[in-house]
Amino acid sequence: MASVEEHTAQPPAEVAGDIAVENPATGEVIAHVPDLGPDAVAELARAARAVQPAWEALGYDGRGRVLRRAQKWLVDHSDRVIQTIVSETGKTYEDALIAEVMYGANALGFWAKNAPRYLADERIRSSSPLLKGKKLVLRYRPIGLVGVIGPWNYPLTNSFGDCVPALAAGNAVILKPSEVTPLTSLLLLEALRESGLPDGVMAIATGGGATGAALIDEVDMVMFTGSTATGRKVMERAAQTLTPVSLELGGKDPMIVLADADLERAANQAVYYGMLNTGQTCISVERVYVEAPVHDEFVAKVTEKARALRNDRSTGPGTADVGSMTFPPQVDIVERHVQDARDKGAQVLVGGSRGHDGRGGYWYEPTVLVGVDHTMACMREETFGPTLPIMKVADAEEAIRLANDSPYGLGASVFSKDAARGEAVARRIDAGAVCVNDSNVNYTALELPMGGMKSSGLGSRHGAGGIRKYAQQQSLLISRLHTRKDIHMYPNTARVTAGLGKLVRLLYGRGKRD
Ligand code: NDP
Repeated sequence: MASVEEHTAQPPAEVAGDIAVENPATGEVIAHVPDLGPDAVAELARAARAVQPAWEALGYDGRGRVLRRAQKWLVDHSDRVIQTIVSETGKTYEDALIAEVMYGANALGFWAKNAPRYLADERIRSSSPLLKGKKLVLRYRPIGLVGVIGPWNYPLTNSFGDCVPALAAGNAVILKPSEVTPLTSLLLLEALRESGLPDGVMAIATGGGATGAALIDEVDMVMFTGSTATGRKVMERAAQTLTPVSLELGGKDPMIVLADADLERAANQAVYYGMLNTGQTCISVERVYVEAPVHDEFVAKVTEKARALRNDRSTGPGTADVGSMTFPPQVDIVERHVQDARDKGAQVLVGGSRGHDGRGGYWYEPTVLVGVDHTMACMREETFGPTLPIMKVADAEEAIRLANDSPYGLGASVFSKDAARGEAVARRIDAGAVCVNDSNVNYTALELPMGGMKSSGLGSRHGAGGIRKYAQQQSLLISRLHTRKDIHMYPNTARVTAGLGKLVRLLYGRGKRD
């Protein structure tokens, strides 16, 4: 584990206090990082603004070279990165490899390659008769200084990952990682520096919520990932300075299993994407609705697979399936949801307790619940833990109604051997991304926008919008060939006005009247 001294090579900063970083799988303190106050954040912002124009001037090729070198660095140092992620999150080696390092390596290459295409000037043709012969251009220029505020569940993917398109677009970036998991961000800044990123273009503002709030005041755009409650606070604060925000918030993703589904595939997907990252994924499978004829068979398959999971500390590749929880208070939330379900009549078929007694760290066992309904917190609130509540439904209509009975709308999945029927159901779910006979993997398609409906967020990541949000849109109108005076200009005359009236009738007066 790299020492904290190695992690703090940044512009001089005021230190408001120290934050102890724990390994949540053991409870041991593994590092300390500074808790930056508002003055230190302002200082990082000043330094970043000073160097941003030179970074922008490097152009897509120059910036792309840095990002591609960082991609190589990440692959060459993947073991060190994985160990750092595992040590501050408690997740398994595979969770860090598949959902973090693979995502990060892909993202560095993807945005290096696609930034010029997504941000290229667009020639616009206008139907306005007054604009004939003029050149109309839509261009995207960097917004300036972007603030990324990240959560603790994916310190690479959801924190650093959002910085990559912002940098590719030519911005300076300040990342405020969760105080629970700052070490990965600090290590990746080191990667960018070694790859040629000029000093100050990116900085890590370590600290708690107050540091995040201070960052909002300093930047030109905020990309936030975290809870809906904090997302509202971020938007309120950003409103004071009319700073644009993109928010990826909580979710309560439903999975619908229709009677004609491949039950083996559906059960594998439910267990994997319900338990991936110990259930601490914004697009985890959080609740399952199964048509009555196949409910018992599906439950039997899920139960068998969930019982076989090794819920243990990851000591290397292949040593555990489900890791510890990352954020200690999250264990209390999971426990409350399971207890509430029990109290209201649900049955716990697998797990149902913290386990790991006396071994230290923050744990909750992979848990399968049946006999659940919408009076229970486990079906209505974001659990963000390793629970899989399964509810029997009469038919697809009931499943759709219950799937949409939620304040959230991030992701969803539908399973049916009839892909067309699955798609028809998918189109009726109120969620930003819905998979058919798959779950979750839409996130790996960086070409496909990913964002929430309802209380799950605002704006999106990935696709053209995932980088254009880090740019200012500017419209240009250029007249090359022109007269000294346009025909509609003063003085108004009866002859010209009559001519313009005729033009209006000619152009627009032929529409059908019902
Ligand atoms: P938060 O939403 O509170 O934290 C997300 C980030 O925002 C962290 O970096 C946090 O800093 C920072 N922050 C906190 N307060 C402010 C503020 N007022 N202004 C600016 N930034 C702020 O998530 P939590 O970690 O508290 O988790 C709470 C719940 O959110 C979980 O139980 C889970 O349900 C959900 N969640 C959803 C995630 C998702 O991917 N959609 C990810 C993580 C959590 P710090 O951590 O240092 O306090």
